[in-house]
Amino acid sequence: MLNDCLFCKIAAGDIPATIVAQDDQFVAFRDIDPQAPTHLLVIPREHVASLNAAMDAQMLGSMLLFAKTVAGGEGLSERGYRVVVNTNAEAGQSVFHLHAHVLGGRAMRWPPG
Ligand code: 5GP
Ligand code: ZN
Repeated sequence: MLNDCLFCKIAAGDIPATIVAQDDQFVAFRDIDPQAPTHLLVIPREHVASLNAAMDAQMLGSMLLFAKTVAGGEGLSERGYRVVVNTNAEAGQSVFHLHAHVLGGRAMRWPPG
């Protein structure tokens, strides 16, 4: 746990969040500023600053499977959803604890903004 990290604090339960699923490795909770009817964040409990810093293939693969499961739990499997990992400044990463956005419940455009 990194002392000054918002998502480490959410994973530890020190800052409240609407948690929708969790296990020993990951926590999924609702984004505070949703950009779609469903907007979840999936984070590893372990602090990893960004995708650039992630070296653990097992963890990354399991994180995607966890994102798929929570999307299914939101009823999005058939209609579709988007999983996004913003990485560093130009992608708009604002919280430097690895997280996957799970977005769904409306039609998405491509290319993204
Ligand atoms: P990023 O911009 O780094 O890809 O995504 C960070 C996300 O975290 C943003 O979508 C933002 O709305 C969300 N966020 C920031 N602070 C909080 C918070 O305190 N609680 C929750 N649930 N989400 C947060
Ligand atoms: Zn952290």
